[in-house]
Amino acid sequence: MARRKKIYEGKAKTLYEGPEPGTLVQYFKDDATAFNAEKRATIEGKGVLNNRLSEFFMTGLSQIGVPNHFLKRLNMREQLIRAVEIVPLEVIVRNYAAGTMAKRLGMEEGTVLPRPLVEFSYKNDDLGDPLVPEEYIIGFGWASQQDLDDMIALALRVNDFMSGVMYGVGIKLIDFKIEIGRHYEGDFQRLIVADEISPDSCRLWDIETGRKLDKDVFRRDLGDLADAYTEVARRLGVMPQNNPQPGKPQLIN
Ligand code: 5GP
Repeated sequence: MARRKKIYEGKAKTLYEGPEPGTLVQYFKDDATAFNAEKRATIEGKGVLNNRLSEFFMTGLSQIGVPNHFLKRLNMREQLIRAVEIVPLEVIVRNYAAGTMAKRLGMEEGTVLPRPLVEFSYKNDDLGDPLVPEEYIIGFGWASQQDLDDMIALALRVNDFMSGVMYGVGIKLIDFKIEIGRHYEGDFQRLIVADEISPDSCRLWDIETGRKLDKDVFRRDLGDLADAYTEVARRLGVMPQNNPQPGKPQLIN
């Protein structure tokens, strides 16, 4: 079989040309990085778990009408996605103070916020993805005012969905990051959720014990990252198997 053309390689995922125009294949690696890739490791099974979990969340979002890039899972580590033009911003939603917000404002981690707060970082590894005000985003032409309003609305819908799903399995959604892409259909363009939604880009705390079930386990050396992600997948009923069906050919990875 001919090798697919690599389009882009990121820290945790690689994008390949898709089988049809307007599609890409997103491959989930086992690599974990933190602090702008100063800390690195390979966590066996992480890519398989995130492929499954991102499929689960994106499919759920599609079912409630939140547009996103997911088309179908291809195998253990790959999914077919819509090709989009990524808006160079990280959209972060916070329900509780944690991470950089807690540090910046001297707040105790876990303090409930008055309402979900949305913030934007400029996607630039060399600069460490700095927080940017909306004024900069419009001034520098990264997005229009209408785009910003649409991105905030999308992010808050993702937050409501994710908070509810997680609450149902005894997990508090502290905060998360999404990326948004421009999807073109002829002359028509719309903003859709892209990249991934997984414990790599969320903070997830067990409601009862406060146990961290997200990438902070790696960032802060709190234990086995794959165990934490497996626990999230187990509670959601998303198991990293290939769902072999009797009598049908099975995908081999
Ligand atoms: P913080 O700003 O507190 O570091 O992160 C807020 C939330 O966004 C956390 O859930 C964190 O995992 C996510 N996040 C922020 N920046 C990145 C990033 O560059 N990559 C990933 N995977 N997640 C991020």
